Amino acid sequence: MVVDQLKSAIRDIPDFPKPGIVFKDITPVLQNQELCTAIVDEFVNRLKGLEIDAIAGVESRGFLFGMMLANKLDIPFIPIRKQGKLPFKTIAESYKLEYGQATIEIHEDAFTAGSRILIHDDLLATGGTVVAASKLIEKLEGVIVGYAFVISLDFLHSLGRLTRFSDNIIALAR
Ligand code: 5GP
Repeated sequence: MVVDQLKSAIRDIPDFPKPGIVFKDITPVLQNQELCTAIVDEFVNRLKGLEIDAIAGVESRGFLFGMMLANKLDIPFIPIRKQGKLPFKTIAESYKLEYGQATIEIHEDAFTAGSRILIHDDLLATGGTVVAASKLIEKLEGVIVGYAFVISLDFLHSLGRLTRFSDNIIALAR
């Protein structure tokens, strides 16, 4: 039900940000507050039984549902940001993009060693972003308890890149 509603709210934008790419636009989802609440509740349901100390969300669309979910679970939210954005001491991880590379960072005091972290982003495509996020969590000796995505582009077959960190992978629209 919520998944069907979600799927029909996601807007496909052909040729964005460049020709040949069909971008999944979630802004219509954000305009529907009942749907947003239902999405967070669905995540909470599917995460039942999992012990989670904090949610780590990736800039920038990973902040939207990441913060809402953390708030609902009454646990901290940890922002993972693009290079140069976090003000305190950071550690960094670089990963390859189709052309060039990207670097993401986390504050080195984001959580204490041994904390159980759920990684969230709006969308899983190649998996490059969340693999880099996972390496950041592991560098700080966090335990990755799972992943939660609003959308997974399953045709890219990226789930296999994540299972070495955790088998708990939730994706609502796929
Ligand atoms: P990946 O690293 O898995 O290839 O790409 C996922 C990252 O790129 C996520 O942070 C996501 O926000 C962004 N992204 C890539 N394609 C799309 C898209 O079609 N829609 C949205 N909303 N985000 C995308």
